[in-house]
Amino acid sequence: MTKILCTLLTVLLLASALPALAGEGQYPMSELESLDLGAMGIRLDAAEIFNPDGTALVDGIVKLGGCTGSFVSEDGLILTNHHCAFRAIRDASTAEHDYLDQGFAAATRADEVHAVGYTVRITDSYRDVSAEVLAVVQEGMDPVARTKAIDKIKNQLSVDYEAAHPGKRAEVAEMFRGETYVLFVYTYLKDVRLVFAPPRAIGNFGGEADNWVWPRHTGDFSFMRAYVGPDGEPAGYAEDNVPYSPKRVLAVAGGGVGEGEAVFIPGYPGRTYRHRSSHFLGFLNDHFMPAIVEWYVWQIEHLEALGEGDRARQLRLASRVKSLHNTSKNYRGKLQGMARLDLVEARRGQEQGLLDFMAQDARFADDTSVLDAIGAVYAQRAESLPLELWVRNVMRHPEIMDIALTLWENAVEGTKPDVERESAYTDRNLGRTRDGLKVSVANLDTEADRVLLAELLLRAGDLPAAQMPAVVRSLAGVANADAAAAFLDDAFGKSRLGDIDFVLKAMEKDTAGLEDAADPFVDLVAGLYGARLAQREESKRRSGELDRLQAVLTDARRAYLGSGFVPDANGTLRLTWGVVEGYAPRDAVVYTPFTTVQGLLEKDTGEAPFNLPARIRQLAEARAWGNFATSAEAGVPVDFIYSADTTGGNSGSPVLDADGRVVGLNFDRAWEATINDFAWNHAYSRSIGVDVRYVLWVTWHLGGERLLAEMGIDPE
Ligand code: ASP
Repeated sequence: MTKILCTLLTVLLLASALPALAGEGQYPMSELESLDLGAMGIRLDAAEIFNPDGTALVDGIVKLGGCTGSFVSEDGLILTNHHCAFRAIRDASTAEHDYLDQGFAAATRADEVHAVGYTVRITDSYRDVSAEVLAVVQEGMDPVARTKAIDKIKNQLSVDYEAAHPGKRAEVAEMFRGETYVLFVYTYLKDVRLVFAPPRAIGNFGGEADNWVWPRHTGDFSFMRAYVGPDGEPAGYAEDNVPYSPKRVLAVAGGGVGEGEAVFIPGYPGRTYRHRSSHFLGFLNDHFMPAIVEWYVWQIEHLEALGEGDRARQLRLASRVKSLHNTSKNYRGKLQGMARLDLVEARRGQEQGLLDFMAQDARFADDTSVLDAIGAVYAQRAESLPLELWVRNVMRHPEIMDIALTLWENAVEGTKPDVERESAYTDRNLGRTRDGLKVSVANLDTEADRVLLAELLLRAGDLPAAQMPAVVRSLAGVANADAAAAFLDDAFGKSRLGDIDFVLKAMEKDTAGLEDAADPFVDLVAGLYGARLAQREESKRRSGELDRLQAVLTDARRAYLGSGFVPDANGTLRLTWGVVEGYAPRDAVVYTPFTTVQGLLEKDTGEAPFNLPARIRQLAEARAWGNFATSAEAGVPVDFIYSADTTGGNSGSPVLDADGRVVGLNFDRAWEATINDFAWNHAYSRSIGVDVRYVLWVTWHLGGERLLAEMGIDPE
């Protein structure tokens, strides 16, 4: 304890010596006007950042799948992370043309490769639709009906907007749970191509050993490009499409940024849980995260072993394995952070303060049971979690089951009116769902699926008997290795889900048609589907209840704190800021904020994941820095850290200097900051970016000269 206090004291002392600029907050655009941007070190005003009636900085920011990117040329060139383009690089690769390993540089525009399934969104405007959404909720409504009614009106509002504004995409996002809803309008581009990616030994230098860790030397960047139809309108992929002309292009500051300077970061942070209860955190800590870590680590071990010596298979499994690593390591960081900060207890303490306040205040005195009610929801969820996870894992993790599930669910959902369907099966999303199937079928690895399914069938035997649905019970009948092997031999022998024509035709069938087609995996999914539906209903019931309870809590908290607070991240456009600064992760250790090429050379062992490409070593040894060095002695800076508030989804966000010029590219957080999603703190919350000088230096030397010219960057 004394040790922790000492560390905190050191950190506080360190922090007080720095400009008081950094702060918690992933601010929605609606909050910009109320922020003192000048005090945050930003030399732009709110309208220069976001302006639905004109052009502003965020017109140059894109949501790219689950990541962020920015336009850096008049011709739709997008700068984003290597890990965001990872699947596209993998899809373009074969064992003979291994772009993941060797890197990819399209020599001309005609060589840029279609990134199937990638889309780009640019936020045009937003409108508060809370009143319209909440109008469908009646007093005392059953929680399942409540969730369904809200989902339906959210879909309806989006569909209506899109019908009136062809080519636009609309989405209603819940901001404060159960309380506020905003309709976001997007320009939506569907032809995205891969332009440049460094070799994995740069883009993912340090691999999993260094993931979520500072100091770092990863060149996690790539370039993609958005295309539109020859008429300039958004269109699906076609050879004669032309590059998109963005409304706004971000300037790239070839000179980078220095320690102590302010930076700000627009982007699309995925999910944070800062306003959730101690019960939710306890559920994650005691049940959910340990179970996920165990299963993901099991998969990693087995999938990696299977891929050994077989590059084609490694490529097929590469995205999956990478994402399993990323999540399991992140969860381990979170579990460690929760223990270190005693986070569940700390939140319980805060809640006690809130409850005391509520008991004294006539507006909330009747609602003091709200936290117990939330606790009851999570206690129940914890009890049904093993079955919930088993059903999810068996349907989602073996790729062949995922394909089968998509087919079956499409047939089931197809019988409903469009606005009542699950999102993936609405008319507006079916194209993307089909693209997803194409990618899945192309990467199907029956041997890997067989290993996962055999294990999951065995694990069915461990499920609590009382909860087990009939079909799972009959599967538990095969929960012995020999029976499972016989069942799987037969099923893989008969299945046609590796044939894309069969799969796309099956997407046109109803459930009777699918039953006639008699694919063993579709049949298995059909048998398990009742369990999935029951869980979905249960999850809607939970949502309905929690929405109501959480809304009461948010109101009380606002009154208690005497001020507003920003909503948790939810995949919509946000702005955060911070300072380029180091931190003290533990007793007697202080981290400085920049790494350099010198450090890269020191880390290079010649073996993956620390195998620096020879060309980069030669250039560094020759000190061929061009215009990109901090100084001739120091060389090119590689990565840097800053005290901004980011999370998954901010991957690929540009890191901007005070004038809004790109000085880096966000790609990760430090180990201690994996806990950010639950509790941000200036003492330990540091995000990691690639320095733009390293991006430009590598691009220049590895075949991307034409891109530097396109961005107006002079390398020497
Ligand atoms: N590298 C991270 C990710 O997996 C980015 C982050 O979460 O900070 O998305």
